[in-house]
Amino acid sequence: MRIHVIGAGLAGLAAAWRLAEDGYAVTLYEAAPQAGGRCRSFLDLQLDRVIDNGGHVVLGANRAALAYLRATGGIKAMTEVAPAAFPFHDLSTGASWTVRPNAGPLPWWIFSPGRRVPGSRARDYLGALALWRAGPDAALADCLPPSLLRQRLWEPFSTAVMNTGPNHAAARSLGRALLQVFGLGERGCRAWLAASGLSTAFVDPALRRLAQRGADFRPGWRLARFHTADGTVTALEFDEERIALTTGERVVLAVPHQVAGELLPGLTLPSGDSPIVNAHYRLEGPVTLPGGQPLLGIIGGTAQWLIARGDIVSVTVSAAGDLVDRPASDLLDLLWSDVGRVLGIATPRPASRLIKERRATFSQTPENMRRRQATVSPWTNLFMAGDWTDTGLPASIEGAVRSGLAAARAATR
Ligand SMILES: Cc1cc2nc3c(=O)[nH]c(=O)nc-3n(C[C@H](O)[C@H](O)[C@H](O)COP(=O)(O)OP(=O)(O)OC[C@H]3O[C@@H](n4cnc5c(N)ncnc54)[C@H](O)[C@@H]3O)c2cc1C
Repeated sequence: MRIHVIGAGLAGLAAAWRLAEDGYAVTLYEAAPQAGGRCRSFLDLQLDRVIDNGGHVVLGANRAALAYLRATGGIKAMTEVAPAAFPFHDLSTGASWTVRPNAGPLPWWIFSPGRRVPGSRARDYLGALALWRAGPDAALADCLPPSLLRQRLWEPFSTAVMNTGPNHAAARSLGRALLQVFGLGERGCRAWLAASGLSTAFVDPALRRLAQRGADFRPGWRLARFHTADGTVTALEFDEERIALTTGERVVLAVPHQVAGELLPGLTLPSGDSPIVNAHYRLEGPVTLPGGQPLLGIIGGTAQWLIARGDIVSVTVSAAGDLVDRPASDLLDLLWSDVGRVLGIATPRPASRLIKERRATFSQTPENMRRRQATVSPWTNLFMAGDWTDTGLPASIEGAVRSGLAAARAATR
């Protein structure tokens, strides 16, 4: 039985990989010249370095993503921050600290002043329970009133995980995600970063496995239209060619939600996107961030997170609706002033590259969380995957991988 997987982002790659490993004939179509979708790296000629479309972090609690990396071999191209540590630097006060969750599920680190956020008390952390009890319509700001702990811990995590500002981010989904991470203790909080580019870890090893299993990968194939009859998909119309499906053939649609909406008008889908702005700077030598880890959270500036890789320091600004329309050179200057202050460098802006991901994720509001699509569709042989499907997780690598695995399971049931 041939299964057609449309879209070679992480959801499509995970689906195709699982199906090929299980012995199914797979064709994987991708509109772009390369796989990876919103999680990819490329050689930037201006910087003369491989850079990511945006800083991506996987956490130890992201079991499906890590299992996918282990099974495809991509894990060898990842760096694990162990033991878990989240260093922060506050540009408004100059203070630096590191949050260090302890091993095991009992969070005694909140009782240890050296491990928790300075100025916070152990009982402040119990306030986060409000997120886990949140109603379906609540945003983070409805559950957690402004406080030092919210500003120094929950908001940086929320903005990164939900890519949506605190007044709009769905509290219940955030609470569930934080519980999954912090509930596993130190191991669940370990950050995993691509050591030499996202594609080397998340994309290329999976494509190699697919080739070994005889799967057919077709970059540059854009699905333009579905043909349907009697509740099934009968043909796939690509820009170049129409492929008629024979009885028993199945389709996994793993495109972004906007494209799914164009291909299948009438589906209820999340509406509205939230952008992420990324800046990459090439310094004169290897970069060491304060705190000694490859990742640093920034408070009180425009930059939110820094990632260091070799001589490249990358800045991520999530939920960047207010910034995304500003000219690239203004943004590079603005973010460089934050980086320079953090690193103690007063030189003019070095070689740099700005990447605006305008459609980084859907805006993860309570309403949009309810508009996510199930794996099964109204067409019997069509299954849906993507970070926007109803995974119960924020739009993320973990969500995308799980959605692909769920679609593969459903398609072969
Ligand atoms: C800058 C940035 C930073 C992020 N940081 C993190 C992070 O730190 N941690 C985390 O977990 N997640 C992060 N994410 C989110 C994560 O990247 C996404 O959730 C995930 O990659 C989505 O995968 P996907 O397969 O669902 O969708 P996509 O990656 O969008 O894949 C869909 C694919 O379908 C293809 N396609 C579209 N239309 C067609 C068509 N008509 N025919 C054929 N193919 C088509 C597209 O080209 C694309 O390759 C970040 C995202 C961005 C943009």
